[in-house]
Amino acid sequence: MSDPIAESIETVGTTLDAVERALTRLREGTYRTCSTCGAPLDPDALDVDPLAERCPVHAEPR
Ligand SMILES: [Zn+2]
Repeated sequence: MSDPIAESIETVGTTLDAVERALTRLREGTYRTCSTCGAPLDPDALDVDPLAERCPVHAEPR
């Protein structure tokens, strides 16, 4: 797929998914904790990436 508009839309969709997961986690009270091990996330890391879902140990490479 080389259509730049389609790629932009896909990027927005991916971000939207991450926002929705963050909102769900906020409602469930698991926001700011690693979704894999439950460890509290570093507040500094959340400042950099408010949508972070995992601690450094379980973070997926981007
Ligand atoms: Zn973890």
